[in-house]
Amino acid sequence: MKTIAFDIDKTLLTLTGYPINNVLNMLIRYKKHGYNIILITARFPHFHNLTKRQLQSIGLDKYVDLDEIYYTSGGTKMKHLINNNVLAFFDDLQDNIIDIIKNQHLLPPEFKLYQVLYKDGDYKIYDTKKTFVYN
Ligand SMILES: [Mg+2]
Repeated sequence: MKTIAFDIDKTLLTLTGYPINNVLNMLIRYKKHGYNIILITARFPHFHNLTKRQLQSIGLDKYVDLDEIYYTSGGTKMKHLINNNVLAFFDDLQDNIIDIIKNQHLLPPEFKLYQVLYKDGDYKIYDTKKTFVYN
């Protein structure tokens, strides 16, 4: 299955739990084009119920199976990208971006990595291969 993965905090949700709409719209667009969507978060697994409620409150349960969230608890996200044959991943954290770029030979050649960064009053999506911004 063609799978796209998203981080949660500061990627899909602000730290106060509001949706980051341009990333959310990207997720919805992928889903409508037939992609499977998974979430990979560094939250601890005992926050699953809270996480599920937060994501339901922004309507994500329509697009993602919220019982299939991958919790890394600070560990690497790479293994989940590899195991799920992920074709694109969205994350905000520079350390994750660096870890993935270092290990991208383990991922499919068409793999794309996007970084979500707060800049000039808004969250923007950067293609890490280009210096492209999606609004
Ligand atoms: Mg994050």
